[in-house]
Amino acid sequence: MKLLQEAIEQRGTIINDDILKVDSFLNHQIDCRLMKAIGQEFAAHFQDQNVTKIVTIESSGIAPAVFAGDCMDVPVIFMKKSEPSTMLDPVYTEAFSFTKNRKYTLCMERQFLSKNDRVLFIDDFLANGQAFLSAEDLIQQCGAHVVGVGIVIEKSFQKGRALIEEKGYDIYSLARIQAMKDNKILWK
Ligand code: 5GP
Repeated sequence: MKLLQEAIEQRGTIINDDILKVDSFLNHQIDCRLMKAIGQEFAAHFQDQNVTKIVTIESSGIAPAVFAGDCMDVPVIFMKKSEPSTMLDPVYTEAFSFTKNRKYTLCMERQFLSKNDRVLFIDDFLANGQAFLSAEDLIQQCGAHVVGVGIVIEKSFQKGRALIEEKGYDIYSLARIQAMKDNKILWK
């Protein structure tokens, strides 16, 4: 997606060979015009999948997921990284944070997904696929099915895509980074 690649090149910061910072339009400040285009792109790609719900992880997946949900006219659920005392019947799983390099517990309210739900998982970044695996676990604990994976920025030099493809899911990444070297991005 050209608009997104331009935003990454012009407004992103390469922290090191593995980590990209996009706080100015996705991870802290949100560029709504760009998010709208991202939502439309996901909606167009997954239009034939009969998606009934979009699932993401708080907090950085919420913006692209909500804009996609608006285009597809489906609800968006964000999985939580801490359990609020107001949850009635939560499902839990263990997750691993790539950027914080530590484990955490992910949870969601069971009632928001059921066996009839066809779920599109959306996230801001794909690195090694651990966030997706945890989300898939919670979706399956609720009896629902993953029908697609939408990623805003994929770092193709890490192993997330292979893991998701091996499971047979339709994965669609809007920007695919082959490498980050000498402060330059090489696109796949
Ligand atoms: P994974 O679980 O696929 O290894 O990592 C994906 C998660 O880690 C995303 O939800 C995202 O929050 C975070 N992440 C992975 N790589 C990056 C990165 O280069 N920059 C930022 N800002 N977050 C990342």
